[in-house]
Amino acid sequence: MKIRQKFILALLLIGLGPMFAMSVFAYMSASNALLLKTTDQLDSIAIKQTERVGAIVQSQQEETTQIANQYELRVNLAQYLAAPTVANKQRLNDLLQNAKASHTDLQYIRLFDAAGGLIASSVAEPASGDFISKLIMPGSGDVNDIRAVKDPRDGQVKLEISTRINALAKLSVVVRTDDLATVTQDYTGLDQTGETVVVTNDNKPLFPLRFKADGALTQDLSTLGIKNSTPGKYVAAVDYRGHDVLYVSHPVSLSNWQVVAKIDRDEALASTMTLRATMGWIFFIVCVFIIGMALIFTRFFTRPILRMERVARRIGGGDFSDSVGFTRKDEIGELGRSIDAMKDNLSSLIRGINSQRERLEVILNTTTEGIFAIDESAKVLLANRAAEVLLGGTAKDIFGKDLHDVFAWQQGMQPFTINYQEPGIKTYENLQFTDKQGAKRYVKVIVAQVHEQLQAGRTHAIVTIHDETASRELENMKTDFVSMAAHELRTPLTAVRGYLEMASLKEQQHEADAVVFVEKALKNVNELSGLINNLLDVTRIERGTLMLDMDKLDMAECVAQVVEDARFSADDREISLSYSGPQNGKYIVGDLIAVREVINNLLSNAIKYTQPGGKVAVSFNDVDGGYAIKVKDTGVGIAKEAQKYLFNKFYRVHGGLDSGSNGTGLGLYIAKSITERHDGAITVESEEGKGSTFTLSLPSFSQERLDKVRTVKDDDNTNKTRRKRGWVTKNIAR
Ligand code: ADP
Repeated sequence: MKIRQKFILALLLIGLGPMFAMSVFAYMSASNALLLKTTDQLDSIAIKQTERVGAIVQSQQEETTQIANQYELRVNLAQYLAAPTVANKQRLNDLLQNAKASHTDLQYIRLFDAAGGLIASSVAEPASGDFISKLIMPGSGDVNDIRAVKDPRDGQVKLEISTRINALAKLSVVVRTDDLATVTQDYTGLDQTGETVVVTNDNKPLFPLRFKADGALTQDLSTLGIKNSTPGKYVAAVDYRGHDVLYVSHPVSLSNWQVVAKIDRDEALASTMTLRATMGWIFFIVCVFIIGMALIFTRFFTRPILRMERVARRIGGGDFSDSVGFTRKDEIGELGRSIDAMKDNLSSLIRGINSQRERLEVILNTTTEGIFAIDESAKVLLANRAAEVLLGGTAKDIFGKDLHDVFAWQQGMQPFTINYQEPGIKTYENLQFTDKQGAKRYVKVIVAQVHEQLQAGRTHAIVTIHDETASRELENMKTDFVSMAAHELRTPLTAVRGYLEMASLKEQQHEADAVVFVEKALKNVNELSGLINNLLDVTRIERGTLMLDMDKLDMAECVAQVVEDARFSADDREISLSYSGPQNGKYIVGDLIAVREVINNLLSNAIKYTQPGGKVAVSFNDVDGGYAIKVKDTGVGIAKEAQKYLFNKFYRVHGGLDSGSNGTGLGLYIAKSITERHDGAITVESEEGKGSTFTLSLPSFSQERLDKVRTVKDDDNTNKTRRKRGWVTKNIAR
């Protein structure tokens, strides 16, 4: 449950609880008081009515008694009983008529004998005699019996009071009930639903009811349960209309009737209903008020809390863009400001950590050494880009793998195991492993422990792998080169010495022969110096001090010339050499000697690596923006994997002292360097055993280009005059 709901509930309990109790109490008291008042009122009406009805009944009974006690009537009755003659009967009839005349409210006065036979009557006997016989109360005869009857002649309810005169006769008086009806149908003080009813012994109303005019003596009122009620005590019951009513009853003296004063419960308690409705409304309004107040109050407290909660959640998710921003001075304001301050600190801390991490990432991924972070069981947690290169895959492939399985180390051809758990920093030199391509790699491995305590998932050690393969290969190449250079130098040197020795043997030779020997020696010396220049040029290329004398030069003429110059060597090796292309008129910006050297290198290689009987074809073509010079041979060709190393210095495919092929592995390196200085490129296509095609591409001449290279040269502020010297010419002849 949220604070807001709790607060509202608490306020409702505190505010409404006592109020509810008080309301219930007030309501109960009010409704009790009202009930009491209502029943008191009913009781007093019932008493008053009872008294009035009783008084009327009493006076009528007294009247009856008075008639019955008349001396004359008794005497005449005795005479009649002794001699029931017509004259005696007539005298009795007359007496009764006289009595009726003096009592106007009496309807009929009659005398009956013990067997119920009519003796005399104040009215003439009707033809049927029904009425008379019906009016008499059979079996009765006690003093002042009273009953209600309906007169069939006028349909009126009337009272018959009978009293015994002697053992042989009794008197019956029928009276009208107008007085009684007027009294009981007076509903004063009984509001809209109240009524007073005179109820007979057999639960019938004596007079028409207030809400049922034809109910007299017919309507059954037994649902009220009057016979069991206590006089003066209120009773709740259901009346003849089915209404819930409250009533009070009282017995009428000298009769077996009851006077009932009743009223509908709803009307009697109407004001308590109003009270209840009013209290309900008050309750409702107070509820609404309390909830409204609670909402306002809780808003005051919970809104800032919710705001802080939202900001804190965002901070937790790494979003620092939002802030609480409270200006209030209370404790909540303080808390809000603390959260904002915490957010600022956290954000700058994370920024710092991020930039540090980015720096580290850059360092890690730009370093040439393969770096692995491993956990306590040598599982790879992290690997940098160099490590990916080393393994020839992506770092993701090796995450979680055991480093023991990733690298199968060897040292001096023997399997070697590194203990990655060893404390401190350990260096393992001269290790090898075989990479995915199957190539052997020479490495140095450094294992540095980060944490001494072993803990799962935590970096335990950093393993750095330094790939020494390239430097080793260079080293090997350099060693090869030294042997090769020594060999290359020794060969012409031996020749020079031989020729000079032969020339020096004057006595054995003609002078002309001596000149030939000296010339041959000179040729070898030239080769020797060319070779040495070549080596020096490599040094200059490496140092960036190779000077070129750039000018407008006719490339076609240059190529044609070089091909012509090589014809002798080709013929010598029985190789057919052809040239297809223009003889002149194709200009470039370049250094004539250097460019010639490039073509010479390509051509001499083609001749050198082609068996006698083979073909070398040189072509010159215009291409987009420049020229393409192709040197195509039908020679030994170059293996695919060797092609990418071809232009590296000291690299030789068909090399080695024992191969019988001479060379330094520098020609293509120099050619490429020179070509690049001319904004050109050299590419190779070759198939082993079928031949190779080297393509030299150079941009055509433009004044802009010339101006540009000259400006660059001027800016260099170095020696502008090119050193005049002979470029190396490949030793094709030997
Ligand atoms: P080298 O002095 O050994 O000829 P280069 O740099 O000119 O040095 O050539 C490097 C290597 O390239 C050579 O040793 C040779 O094995 C290979 N090579 C160059 N040109 C050809 C070619 N036309 N046919 C076959 N192999 C060639």
